[in-house]
Amino acid sequence: MRLFDSHAHLDFPQFAPDQERVVRELEEKGVYVLNVGVDLGSSQASLELARRHRNIFAACGIHPHDAKDFSEDTLKELAALLDQGAVAVGECGLDYYRDLSPREDQRRAFQAQLELAVEKGLPVIVHLRGEARDELLEILREVNPGKGVIHAFSAAHGHPREFLDLGFYIGIGGPVTYKKNAALRALLREIPLERLLVETDSPYLPPEPFRGRRNDPEKVRFVVEKIAEILRVSPKKVAEATFRNACDLFGISLGS
Ligand SMILES: [Zn+2]
Repeated sequence: MRLFDSHAHLDFPQFAPDQERVVRELEEKGVYVLNVGVDLGSSQASLELARRHRNIFAACGIHPHDAKDFSEDTLKELAALLDQGAVAVGECGLDYYRDLSPREDQRRAFQAQLELAVEKGLPVIVHLRGEARDELLEILREVNPGKGVIHAFSAAHGHPREFLDLGFYIGIGGPVTYKKNAALRALLREIPLERLLVETDSPYLPPEPFRGRRNDPEKVRFVVEKIAEILRVSPKKVAEATFRNACDLFGISLGS
């Protein structure tokens, strides 16, 4: 069963001791990964990982946490990185939960990266947390690359309809397996299978029964199984649909 984890951070320090082994095992098990940059350094690292491994792809972007340092130079460097084979812009967006950058800077950096995605014809990986839904939708309506994913979708995001209407996919991860998360499981039924992506956000957000441990992309299987159970379809069907969706969205053709 081929799987596509649409959001992971294998370049993060948690993987420093055994990154090569983890990636090799993913390759053996048929797990494909979009490794997502959060700043210029990790965007570069994502590209390098993608260059070395046929099952890894790279996204380059600046996380809202770092928006306060987003300058014209950042934008230029990011544009140059994207030209080195990235399949998406991100992750970028708004985080009004942790508020690690002033909101004004977050909006500016997000808008600039959306414009870059439009210019490059690339999809965008959107991070949304806290009371930012309305502002994010407003910005997306102004500058919409027309393709992308709302990553780590949760019940706090509300109904997915407006995101779907803007052409976005919805990324579901480990939290869908958490006992307390009945609200997210209910919202899942509002997302057509052809607009669904699965993700781990490794090393974070491990699914049940791995909470408190390091997450890795192979565990996206547990997300697939939970979604299949909720939608009353086979895990194979969810795995195949989300794999195909990721390839469509990120413009990946794997051949046979
Ligand atoms: Zn992330």
